[in-house]
Amino acid sequence: MPKRPVVRHQFDVVIVGAGGAGLMAALQASKSCSVAVVSKLYPTRSHTGTAQGGIGAALGNLEPDSWEWHMFDTVKGSDYLADQDAVEFMCQEAIKVVYELEHMGLPFNRTPEGKIDQRRFGGHTKEFGAAPVRRSCYAADRTGHMILQTLYQQCIKQQVRFFDEFHLLDVLMPEGRCGGIAAWQLATGELHVFQAKGVLLATGGFGRMYKVTSNAHTLTGDGCAAVLRRGLPLADMEFFQFHPTGIYKLGILITEGARGEGGILRNALGERFMERYAPTLLDLAPRDMCSRAIYLELREGRGIQGKDYVHLDLTHLDREVLDKKLPDITDFVQTYLGIDPHRQPIPIQPTAHYAMGGIPTTIDAEVIRDAGSQAVPGLYAAGECACVSVHGANRLGTNSLVDIIVFGSRGGRRVAEWAAKADPPSLEPDAEGPAHEMLDRFTMNLGGESAGRIREELQQVMMDSVSVFRTQDGLKEALAAITQLRMRQRRVGLQDKSVRFNTELEEALELGCLLDLAWATTVAALARQESRGAHCREDFPTRDDANWLKHSLASLEGDRLRLDYKPVTITRFPPKPRTY
Ligand SMILES: Cc1cc2nc3c(=O)[nH]c(=O)nc-3n(C[C@H](O)[C@H](O)[C@H](O)COP(=O)(O)OP(=O)(O)OC[C@H]3O[C@@H](n4cnc5c(N)ncnc54)[C@H](O)[C@@H]3O)c2cc1C
Repeated sequence: MPKRPVVRHQFDVVIVGAGGAGLMAALQASKSCSVAVVSKLYPTRSHTGTAQGGIGAALGNLEPDSWEWHMFDTVKGSDYLADQDAVEFMCQEAIKVVYELEHMGLPFNRTPEGKIDQRRFGGHTKEFGAAPVRRSCYAADRTGHMILQTLYQQCIKQQVRFFDEFHLLDVLMPEGRCGGIAAWQLATGELHVFQAKGVLLATGGFGRMYKVTSNAHTLTGDGCAAVLRRGLPLADMEFFQFHPTGIYKLGILITEGARGEGGILRNALGERFMERYAPTLLDLAPRDMCSRAIYLELREGRGIQGKDYVHLDLTHLDREVLDKKLPDITDFVQTYLGIDPHRQPIPIQPTAHYAMGGIPTTIDAEVIRDAGSQAVPGLYAAGECACVSVHGANRLGTNSLVDIIVFGSRGGRRVAEWAAKADPPSLEPDAEGPAHEMLDRFTMNLGGESAGRIREELQQVMMDSVSVFRTQDGLKEALAAITQLRMRQRRVGLQDKSVRFNTELEEALELGCLLDLAWATTVAALARQESRGAHCREDFPTRDDANWLKHSLASLEGDRLRLDYKPVTITRFPPKPRTY
């Protein structure tokens, strides 16, 4: 069978992904070396553009604040699983990067004196937990959109080379180092080999393994899956965050900023039920706690009209607050539910939102290969696909935008420094062989399975058994189902035989990634016999620091997944019981 055409490129650095992390890395790296940004989406369609509520930084513009308080909140929010050296660095840098974004032209909302305005968000407090603090810097409820547009403009100004609608298939690893990537071009069906001294992955999250999710269709974890398939580990995969306020059944996000502005969660009796679960922070408790509280209310029969949703009540907020600070979510609710949030409460349920786990990296964004934190030469990762780890077992709202900008920037600088001193890699003549095979598997297969059907079944299994509450039996059933689905995936055939713009082929490729990541999530969740942050085991309901204060590392060994563990870095804040 003749192979498809191969186009070859050479750059110092290749960045995969054009969300906030990828663009920030590209801006830094392109100051000193040749950079290509490869993205399966047109850059401004990346999921960063949907981020609503804000970016957290202790600017102290409206009331006293400090990066130490931000650090404490992040560590406590993480249920003490975050690495504290990384958190300290991130909370200090957050202040600098917000001003950097402002100077690039990002139109933040302003206080009457012209400073960047700030609002409250879940888990962010003053004086080490005393009361909520105004820390989230925001541009209405379109903060991510503004970040993405601002960074993209800067990249264009700096003449960064973009390869849009190119789909990463494989990370090339000659002689134990990273030497580039193989990607498939949607428009032409051609295979492209990018030879590079350094590669930085910024491919975002994988919420699409769940049925109800706030994540875009494209968030299928392709970068994480590529790393796993190269025998490298993924860290802390058992921790997946459910955001408490997704629109009922649709999963579309209603930002936590709505509660930051005073919104209240209510059950069928009209009760502000968070009083029972988090007496100090109430509706601004961290997301893991609010999502569990909602499920417990539903279980006890206090869902609205006996159904599986509760209300987010914004009816007491001034119309001006909704118009000026929450215009997009007001619009979503009107469009999708026909509800005016000023007059009626919004039906909500927890929605799969954020991957705390991912590709383990050092604080310099270097990808690590084992529990001894050995770096893979030339391979870097940043943003939601990476696990530094600054979010541990549960991320606080506004901290992902901080993470992508701080570590995107740091990663961009480090990969450029590496490229300045590294020799060019020598790729084997058929380095793209595995990438050809990945495409052939689907294009030549005459099997009758449909990728869409398998994906729907996977999303249902994950929603039923690997979501907010977990049990050993449920996880075992999920594992058996995922194993079956992985086998069925081998028989996926395509209806669409075209070479150009074959989106059915793209979906089949993405399904493979989702299956691998769901597998890793379930295996790691089954092994962790405790409850911590977003991982809540009903059969092991307490946190167990004696045995489980450690990061998991899942890697492929033949056709099984192997789990290793590595210690958590604790500097300033020893683990304590977590109450809010
Ligand atoms: C609705 C919503 C609201 C949010 N609101 C907030 C908020 O207010 N504050 C906050 O801190 N966080 C928020 N988050 C989380 C935060 O927005 C994300 O975690 C963050 O933007 C991820 O950025 P990223 O650069 O890592 O990835 P993304 O922005 O997701 O970009 C991923 C990039 O990778 C590329 N890519 C993926 N796979 C491939 C492939 N195979 N080949 C080539 N390219 C590929 C894509 O094209 C894309 O450019 C929100 C998330 C959602 C879903």
